[in-house]
Amino acid sequence: MIQDIAPHVFHNEYQPEAKPVSGDPVFFVRGQMLAVRRTDERGFEVPRVGDAGVATEGLTYLFALDKTSCWLAPDRGGAEPPEGFELVHNRELRMERRGTRERMFCAYTAVHLADWYAKTRYCGVCGQPMVHHGSMRAMHCTSCGNTVFPRLNPAVIVCVCDPKRNKIVLTRYAAGRYAPIDALVAGFVEIGETMEDCVRREVCEEVGLEVTNIRYYKSQPWGVAGDILSGYWCDVVGDPTIHRDAEELGRAVWAGPDEIPGQPDDLSLTNEMMCLWRDTHR
Ligand SMILES: [Zn+2]
Repeated sequence: MIQDIAPHVFHNEYQPEAKPVSGDPVFFVRGQMLAVRRTDERGFEVPRVGDAGVATEGLTYLFALDKTSCWLAPDRGGAEPPEGFELVHNRELRMERRGTRERMFCAYTAVHLADWYAKTRYCGVCGQPMVHHGSMRAMHCTSCGNTVFPRLNPAVIVCVCDPKRNKIVLTRYAAGRYAPIDALVAGFVEIGETMEDCVRREVCEEVGLEVTNIRYYKSQPWGVAGDILSGYWCDVVGDPTIHRDAEELGRAVWAGPDEIPGQPDDLSLTNEMMCLWRDTHR
């Protein structure tokens, strides 16, 4: 999965004392786009401190990969990226299967933090500009004292199993670039429900099935959607007839082990769960 980057180590602790040094990566982010230079053999580079057009003033500390600090460039109001770099959607990088896993993980996480910083410029309580807290990764309002921490959107990935027929439910989105790719039932946790409630509700809404025996598998940070994903297995009970939510899904089917090709890359928790089930149920 995208976060499995050993022997590299990702450090997300906030480092208020960190200072940019020559060669540190700098992420220029605009929405879901980031400034990159495509390199040979499906790699990509991001601008670095010391490159032309990369100022050290105004950089925001993001995280470190091993001992290298990574930085967020200030939003320059739609200015172009440094010379030699182009703005590319993170999805394009993924579809091109570009970059090492640790590089993609850093890019996804940078997009997540950049999105949060971009949406936390003003205080939601009193409307005044926010400033960096200083000692924590938080934005602070000096006018009313409001402090805002980075936002995560909890979501579930659900592998619905039918043990009697040795099948699982595969879905495809109705629209978008990921529409042709097999996935599992998924959705955001709503306020006032447990993760297990969310599993039951999402399965019911998306494919019209009732499930039991809900078991946690693993979690995954998925920064480009601001998510923290939790994966669950569960078993269908009662009528296994799928009633697809046609607005959200273009396809929803029961599939056996020989009908699961997997996704084109190994970045997602969804893919790991699909392939693990396939490989242990042949
Ligand atoms: Zn305020």
